[in-house]
Amino acid sequence: MENLVIIGSGPAGISAALYAARAGLSPVVLTQGPGALGKAGQIDNYYGAPLTGPALHAAGEEQARALGVRILETQAVGVVGFDTYTVRAVSGDFDTIAVLLATGAKRAAPTIPGLKELEGAGVSYCAVCDAFFYRGKPVAVLGSGDFALHEADELAPLAGSVTILTNGEPEAFTKPCPYPIDRRPISALVGDKALAGVQFADGGLLLANGLFVALGTAGSAEIARQTGAELGADGSVVVDAAMQTTLPGLYAAGDCTGGLKQIAKAVHEGTQAGLSAIQYIRDYRKTHPDL
Ligand SMILES: Cc1cc2nc3c(=O)[nH]c(=O)nc-3n(C[C@H](O)[C@H](O)[C@H](O)COP(=O)(O)OP(=O)(O)OC[C@H]3O[C@@H](n4cnc5c(N)ncnc54)[C@H](O)[C@@H]3O)c2cc1C
Repeated sequence: MENLVIIGSGPAGISAALYAARAGLSPVVLTQGPGALGKAGQIDNYYGAPLTGPALHAAGEEQARALGVRILETQAVGVVGFDTYTVRAVSGDFDTIAVLLATGAKRAAPTIPGLKELEGAGVSYCAVCDAFFYRGKPVAVLGSGDFALHEADELAPLAGSVTILTNGEPEAFTKPCPYPIDRRPISALVGDKALAGVQFADGGLLLANGLFVALGTAGSAEIARQTGAELGADGSVVVDAAMQTTLPGLYAAGDCTGGLKQIAKAVHEGTQAGLSAIQYIRDYRKTHPDL
């Protein structure tokens, strides 16, 4: 059992890891490499800068490793649990007392005609939350990577059929995909009050009552949704002053909590989340001395 699993090695995740490591908690950081900092050129407005974004990211990871933080290159695809948590990653599962979501800002939603209009009426962003509503029905998953595969795995036991739609994107599965894959670009979603099917650019139609959006990698919002933690209207993760989500032991920090998207804010929130998690884990261990 881990104490603290941090998803993301940006300024928020690494700041939390520094505090947790110095408190003797041996945190694990799961990462897919630099997030927003990988795209940033010269940073002029952060303490200690100027530095390039990638250089700042590398320095943060190096500092954390020097304190004994384990930084693992793997993609988190989901979190389950309530009292303790299991973080599901491509490399395997991590059982843990506390989790910090620090995956950065959510990517832009795809601009498929009909998608926005049919949200909640066939279009879903969480298989574990909504699979039940599609028992015996044909559903599709929009995505081309391991996150899409994870969502398909959640749907398969209940849905009538599951098809993966890559929308013309290259496939990036790291394990064999057991579901039919339709690679055609999508032109629109069809359905009046509820989703009836997916229209392709070549004129073809796939009948589907559910479309589960699972593009790229799972972000904090998607992961929070899986656990039942509350999201704001803008899709950011709702946190209190301690950076705890609406679930005990589940924290969020940085760009994923909305508001100002700046390094200083991510560092502050990561620091606060780290300190809150340290206290939570210490209290938890007092009542669970076996862990
Ligand atoms: C072009 C550009 C320029 C910028 N310039 C500035 C600037 O000058 N000054 C400033 O203050 N801010 C700047 N920013 C903003 C700043 O980079 C962000 O606010 C900050 O990096 C947010 O930190 P974060 O830790 O929340 O997320 P990020 O830095 O985005 O880190 C997210 C981390 O999560 C990981 N991750 C995501 N999903 C998963 C998953 N499923 N599994 C495992 N790991 C995952 C990523 O690999 C990454 O390590 C800039 C941003 C951009 C894009």
